[in-house]
Amino acid sequence: MNSHRNRPAISANLDGRHFDLVVLGGGTIGLSAAREVRTRGLSVLVLERDSIGRGASWAAAGMLSPLGEALEPGPFLRFGLRSLELWPTFARALEEEAGIGIEYRECGKLRLAYSEQEEARLRRRLAWALAQGFPADWWEPARVLKDHPGLRPDLRGALYLEQDFRVDNRLLVDALRRACLVRGVELAEGCEAAAIETEGKRARGVRLSNGHRVRADRILVATGAWSGQLGGLPHPLPVRPIRGEMVALRPSTGGVWRAGKPGVAPGVPRVLESERIYLVPRDDGRLLAGATEMDVGFAKGPTVDGVMHVLREATSLVPALEGAQILESWSGFRPGSPDGMPILGEFPAVGDLFLATGHYRNGILLTPATAEAMGRLVADESTTDLPEAFLPDRLF
Ligand SMILES: Cc1cc2nc3c(=O)[nH]c(=O)nc-3n(C[C@H](O)[C@H](O)[C@H](O)COP(=O)(O)OP(=O)(O)OC[C@H]3O[C@@H](n4cnc5c(N)ncnc54)[C@H](O)[C@@H]3O)c2cc1C
Repeated sequence: MNSHRNRPAISANLDGRHFDLVVLGGGTIGLSAAREVRTRGLSVLVLERDSIGRGASWAAAGMLSPLGEALEPGPFLRFGLRSLELWPTFARALEEEAGIGIEYRECGKLRLAYSEQEEARLRRRLAWALAQGFPADWWEPARVLKDHPGLRPDLRGALYLEQDFRVDNRLLVDALRRACLVRGVELAEGCEAAAIETEGKRARGVRLSNGHRVRADRILVATGAWSGQLGGLPHPLPVRPIRGEMVALRPSTGGVWRAGKPGVAPGVPRVLESERIYLVPRDDGRLLAGATEMDVGFAKGPTVDGVMHVLREATSLVPALEGAQILESWSGFRPGSPDGMPILGEFPAVGDLFLATGHYRNGILLTPATAEAMGRLVADESTTDLPEAFLPDRLF
């Protein structure tokens, strides 16, 4: 799939132009919010300093996993479940609008236990999930291995999470980019926002690193892991990059899943996860293995160490992957916040300045709910959708 198709010319000269909303950052968060706000009739510009959709949104694995990621009931789980609920409609509408399929699959996930301690932790999690009323189950080893004969056989069982899905995040950014253009959002690539410009205590524009100025009634910061670098704010945004490295493999036939019988379509492959690695299938047979988590600033990857770690864990889980072809390795920077929660809402000290950042490990999952909430907040000035635990006030 060519992720550069339909690329518009870089908006030639933005100097002095005015928009109802300027969005900083062209990842899934910025693009989906821009599309949402544009639907309400506002003029919208997205400023992207690099190419649209080549940040964390491109590097992710595309798991949509609120139950797998939430450690306890609370605002993150509620927001994640709201997003999961929105995903089917969001995916359908986006695919129609963009004419690009995004491989949204309601596949479920198996979390595998290989030690007594892992089994105990997963069984506690199962009890918790069932008590909350979520569809989940314990699968004995024979059942898991029947569908996944390539797995290491000394398995103790697996927690099956039914409400755990996946999407192809690279197709997602392609589709969002296209849908933005269809709706009349202006996209400007190669345009770095250097600083927010204010008048009194309200944001009124953006200074670009080439010295040009764009005027705006409202500004939405969606610059992901780089949010802390933005100038012109009374305090820098407390977002730090957490690097993740991944590898794409093409397993040899029968590598992981039971081969489909001739004439019978194989089931939609599930996501497989241990405490050290996840394996996310794509419909074309690729398997994405990941991911490392490194707090090393913006040090670029992938590194030998990171890739070796991923390959070691992947082949330990599925020995048959030793014969797999390595297709690609890459890295990306997750936008980490101090408490691991997204930062969503109006900036406390500057009016008309909104933040949608800090989505850390779950920005793909949270895209529809974030777009919904930020659309209402920015365009309609309603705050009802935003969990208090996500509001920027908590950090300043
Ligand atoms: C290896 C890895 C695996 C992941 N797996 C998953 C997963 O399975 N499921 C899930 O839900 N999430 C996952 N995530 C997390 C998810 O990718 C992020 O939370 C999400 O993509 C954040 O989206 P974003 O739009 O905020 O950031 P980004 O996609 O990084 O977009 C930010 C954009 O802002 C631009 N920018 C930065 N500064 C400026 C500036 N000054 N001016 C203009 N533009 C600027 C950048 O170039 C970038 O394009 C993963 C992340 C990684 C790295």
